Amino acid sequence: MNKSKYLILFDVDYTLVKGSKIHKESIVEGIKKIFGVDPPIEKLKLHGMTDQQIVTDLLKICGVDKKIIESKMKECLTAIAQLYNINKSTDKVTLMEGVRSLLEEISKDNDFIPGLVTGNIESIAYGKLSLVGISQYFSIGGFGSDHIERHKLVEIAVERAKAKLGIDRFKTFVVGDTPKDINAAKKAGVYSIGIASGSFSREELEKYGADLILESLLDKDKLIEFIKSK
Ligand SMILES: [Mg+2]
Repeated sequence: MNKSKYLILFDVDYTLVKGSKIHKESIVEGIKKIFGVDPPIEKLKLHGMTDQQIVTDLLKICGVDKKIIESKMKECLTAIAQLYNINKSTDKVTLMEGVRSLLEEISKDNDFIPGLVTGNIESIAYGKLSLVGISQYFSIGGFGSDHIERHKLVEIAVERAKAKLGIDRFKTFVVGDTPKDINAAKKAGVYSIGIASGSFSREELEKYGADLILESLLDKDKLIEFIKSK
């Protein structure tokens, strides 16, 4: 009998790590460099947004034409990633509670496949995780450099997992701290697990219909028990 495998797709900011300042600064500087405008980043609520969405919304506020935004998006994402990588040694990223112990536990169990779904540009996501010594746990993901819409990132991560592992049957879970993570999971047709230690409360995440809500990743036993019950 085939045992079930479980693909667990973690969000990065306020789910695995917190405290990055250089990422936001790199977005501002990258936009200035490529589009020649000074974006008012303080006007956006960034939680759960993909980097492409952040860049697009900022440029729209600055009155930049949609066609110009699209034509230079790749170049802008490359510039942002380069700026982050040049300055990342000064980024003060820290781990969210319970993360290391959860990753150690799931990496010991062959039924679990850890992955990422984050609005971060791929190299920025791995850059942040390497600063806190957890990048080695991940080799599959969907990133803000892949698509503007978050639910597409879930689908991309699932496809990459199938291709990499050579199996197409596993159950997929999105773990994140914002309503956008929950919505992305629902649109992609996978399970959603909300973590209330980020920017949103348990009540707020409940409203969006998360399949499970945890106070933090310190509740790793509850998380593992829920996943294995599916
Ligand atoms: Mg987040």
